[in-house]
Amino acid sequence: MKVLVTIKRVIDYSVKVRVKRDGSGIDFSGVKMSLNPFDEIAVEEAIRQKEKGKASEIVVVSIGEKDCQETLRAALALGADRAIHVKTSLETQPLGVAKVLKVLVEREKPELVILGKQAIDDDCNQTGQMLSALLNWPQGTFVSKLEVMKDKIRVVREVDGGLETLDMPLPAIVTTDLRLNEPRYATLPNIMKAKQKPLEEISAISLNVDLTPHLKTLHVKEPPKRKAGVKVKTVDELLDKLQKEAKVF
Ligand code: AMP
Repeated sequence: MKVLVTIKRVIDYSVKVRVKRDGSGIDFSGVKMSLNPFDEIAVEEAIRQKEKGKASEIVVVSIGEKDCQETLRAALALGADRAIHVKTSLETQPLGVAKVLKVLVEREKPELVILGKQAIDDDCNQTGQMLSALLNWPQGTFVSKLEVMKDKIRVVREVDGGLETLDMPLPAIVTTDLRLNEPRYATLPNIMKAKQKPLEEISAISLNVDLTPHLKTLHVKEPPKRKAGVKVKTVDELLDKLQKEAKVF
């Protein structure tokens, strides 16, 4: 089973995001960039399926500027076999990304595509669902358990109020939730080996996909600063404040 895993390069989760002074967007200068955490989980899951003898090849794909290649190398160091970089200088948005992925799926013919449930920069949570619709493939979103069986997969989904178990035929789309696994760290020898693994660069234009953004950012602003709290001495004082100041009852 060939597995295609998508990788988005995003601002590292530990970085405090700065907004540009004119509110036109995020300030990326000098900011640490990393593999989107949900995509790291996707790579880990593909590797585990390979270790179990269920997956035969893991191809990682990223769409964006040249520096995506650094992120793809990080995925190769974790254990992916091959990488594809679809180069574009346009801002990538879910529909455009899903259209590019559809073309790559038709070319690569994977039986399973694993995406993160969301990219932590735009928090869209749309790409996997859009790809599933474009390909007319079944989708298991927010997956916290994946079992590959003969010609089908069984997924456990994290849904409101509990867990949902679904079976679906292959080929299929899966998007990862936080509890699916705990990603490994890349070892130094694997980081060195990753430099030799194949990384193909394709221009988005050559795929004939329109990546023109459909959404326009009007304004970005920091969330309001939290006000300092107050310490209360007694439960009665707390109840009094909740009633008179917070007016919660
Ligand atoms: P989103 O719908 O933007 O929240 O993204 C969901 C998932 O789609 C991400 O976790 C990635 O796996 C994939 N994805 C989104 N944008 C890209 C991109 N530019 N390149 C590769 N994969 C992407």
